[in-house]
Amino acid sequence: MTDYASQGKTREVNMTDVSNCANHQSYYTCLSRSSCADDTVIMTNFKSALITGGASGWLRQEFREIELLDEITRLRHERSLPETVRGASRRSIIREFRRWKGRHYVPNGVHPAVRWGENEIFEENDLNTAEWAIVCKRKSGTTSSATNLTPVSDSTALKRKVPLDDQPTPSKRAKFSPDGHNAVIMTTVVSPETPQYKPVGLMWDAENYSCSYDCFFTALRHIWSADPLRWNSRFTEMNVFIKELAIGIQANELNLCQFEAIRDRVRLLLHGSSPTKFPYGKSFVSMPDLAKEFLRSSQVIHEKRKRCLTCMTEDFVGIYTSTHSAIHVGDPSARSIADWLSNPFERTAYMCTRCSQRTIVFHLLFHAVPTLMYVSLEWNNRNIRISETVTVSTTHGTQHSFRLKAVIYWVAHHFTCRLISNDRIWFHDGITTGRVSIQEFHTSLADINIRGESIAIGAIYALA
Ligand SMILES: [Zn+2]
Repeated sequence: MTDYASQGKTREVNMTDVSNCANHQSYYTCLSRSSCADDTVIMTNFKSALITGGASGWLRQEFREIELLDEITRLRHERSLPETVRGASRRSIIREFRRWKGRHYVPNGVHPAVRWGENEIFEENDLNTAEWAIVCKRKSGTTSSATNLTPVSDSTALKRKVPLDDQPTPSKRAKFSPDGHNAVIMTTVVSPETPQYKPVGLMWDAENYSCSYDCFFTALRHIWSADPLRWNSRFTEMNVFIKELAIGIQANELNLCQFEAIRDRVRLLLHGSSPTKFPYGKSFVSMPDLAKEFLRSSQVIHEKRKRCLTCMTEDFVGIYTSTHSAIHVGDPSARSIADWLSNPFERTAYMCTRCSQRTIVFHLLFHAVPTLMYVSLEWNNRNIRISETVTVSTTHGTQHSFRLKAVIYWVAHHFTCRLISNDRIWFHDGITTGRVSIQEFHTSLADINIRGESIAIGAIYALA
């Protein structure tokens, strides 16, 4: 019996083989099946590092929050909790409690391993990103929101894909190609076209802020899932970062490693290429910067030409070519992304040397057709319609259709995203939804620009 299958069972004599346990949760599951220590047998050798290596930042955060909730419950029972300490969610009540007691207050009896103070700061998660009230409305849906919103378990998202067989079989392993060239025929990958599809997400890293990667990689995986064979080869041809991600997604589909481990490996590569753009710690990464690296190819994708809209003078000195497909809607008056892409230009403040009008724009010309596009939106154009389909015309006279796959949001220094597939929309947030995404039954493309306080800052399109 696996650790997974044994959950909830009690065994009078518990003989365990913990040699293959992947993490401390697995050890816990195996060993806590026993009714007493005397009748517990560990039959094999085990990796002590997994149970002595310290808790992850996220797990420590979980324990800290539980300690505070415990204290809040005790004080409430004793009627010594002030009226101001209240809230509909655990985050809001913890925030109010800490406002009352101070940030360094630690209840008595908290284990030294999770204590916080002057040196070890207990960072609260961003309150604005946790829109629990909205999620609660989904309780009438088919899935339990409560389970989806507990990003602590290691197993929820990974087991979903292979429900009857959570261990990779030798035949599935054999199909994995680490060079990424021979795409794996993923019989187990659930397609976004099917009702049981639930986009896999990434759990936020509170020590090395990861929300930009969480969103972007979750979106790329969502795109990949629609046609693993085709996207495997497309990703592999583009650049080393997205190729590494494709290889990792395959390994994760086969349960060979966790998605977060893949993220961290790709992140390390990015950091190596540009430590200032892709830093570690509690710093932020620019989404266009990330998109540029991931959507880079070996050929020139587009160029920008300086042109005057009044006298139509073209400036051949001011030409900038790019090998990536991260573009920016540089026109605050654009009504929709599709409209803008029919004649894409960015407004500038330059004055024309011929007609002296400040009507110089950068005209965008596509020389090659990308397979993915990141369209970054203007801050001062929140009403731009995020088109479901857009067309890109190339300088060779060809036209190519793209479909909207994801929208990236930003609020209070945190990125979240929505994923789109035909008429379905899911929401992912590394903090609140973690390894899963939640389907939003009442969101339509017409109101996709905003999510609560969050504002859409970019859209990801895939070649249809
Ligand atoms: Zn001019």
